[in-house]
Amino acid sequence: MTALPTTSREVHLASRPSGWPTPENFTVVPTPVPELGADQVLVRNLVMSVDPYMRGRMDDRPSYVPPFQVGAPLDGGAVGEVIASTSADVPVGAHVLHGLGWREVAAASAGRVIVVDPAVAPDAAYLGVLGMPGLTAYAGLLEVAGMHAGDTVFVSGAAGAVGSLVGQIAKQKGAARVVGSAGSAEKVRYLVDELGFDAAFDYHDGPVREQLRTAAPDGIDVYFDNVGGEHLEAAISALKLKGRIAICGMISQYNDAEPAPGPRNLAMIIGKRLTLRGFIVSDFNHLQPTFVAEMSRWLDAGAVRFRETTLDGGVDAAPQAFIDLLRGANTGKMLVRF
Ligand code: NDP
Repeated sequence: MTALPTTSREVHLASRPSGWPTPENFTVVPTPVPELGADQVLVRNLVMSVDPYMRGRMDDRPSYVPPFQVGAPLDGGAVGEVIASTSADVPVGAHVLHGLGWREVAAASAGRVIVVDPAVAPDAAYLGVLGMPGLTAYAGLLEVAGMHAGDTVFVSGAAGAVGSLVGQIAKQKGAARVVGSAGSAEKVRYLVDELGFDAAFDYHDGPVREQLRTAAPDGIDVYFDNVGGEHLEAAISALKLKGRIAICGMISQYNDAEPAPGPRNLAMIIGKRLTLRGFIVSDFNHLQPTFVAEMSRWLDAGAVRFRETTLDGGVDAAPQAFIDLLRGANTGKMLVRF
């Protein structure tokens, strides 16, 4: 039996960014591994997630999740292997999904981890296609936007973890036309050639409003917003009568030092009887079993595909992976392997 580690390394918030985060906002700190208390597990992390919402947590302001604290470790989704346990329910050797990423070794209450089966799906899938981003896409499209067969659907951030699934779920649910926007020609090709989007465009290539009009000349019924700003304004203009918007994220504004101006065409909401609804994925945790069952069927049938962008290097690579994510270096879910 190999000895248990006595020291771990974890990423701390060194300072709060003003605008874009830089590597200097993070620091890697050695830390002693604690003795396990009753009903706890010690987990050696194998893979961790970096997510856009973590940018909001770097600022000191109230939100739906508390801010990270300067001088304290960051946290977030991760999957690891249990290397010690005082729990009757979670044995050594189990792979678990938990919220203590950004560190090599985590001590967690057994009740706060979810045992996953690497034989059913790879560890990383529980952080992406079968995990939080997958449920976000599923619930946001079907419950929040109320997408139904025959709708024309537009999704921004379409080559990312959430967006790539939104477009494919829309297809599976009978959307008449699915349009995506993303940040490079390669991503646009991926959407159309590999994921089956009917049309896609690179938002750098010209005004979103014009590119959307070309891609969806008859207008759209649903907009799944990952980006905000110019995309949201263009979608409001393109929506048909009684169109619906699921406001999932506004990543184009997360690094703004000053609040961005709102869409200039909000008055269209009245005449077109539009619905705009924001949501947080945890509002829909009750849908997780239905979502996993349906997504597993689609994956098995090859009807839904996914990519991951993975950096090796554990805690040393995590800050750069997070910065890369905000800059669009990823296609599909952005992950860090230990
Ligand atoms: P992604 O995998 O989509 O990664 C982020 C992507 O955002 C980048 O790859 C980049 O792609 C794109 N991006 C960055 N800056 C801009 C910009 N200025 N304009 C347009 N696109 C930009 O991340 P996720 O799938 O994890 O998250 C997608 C969105 O969903 C985020 O807004 C996130 O905050 C939100 N979210 C919300 C949840 C909720 O509960 N409401 C839960 C999970 C995610 P590109 O190359 O195309 O620019």
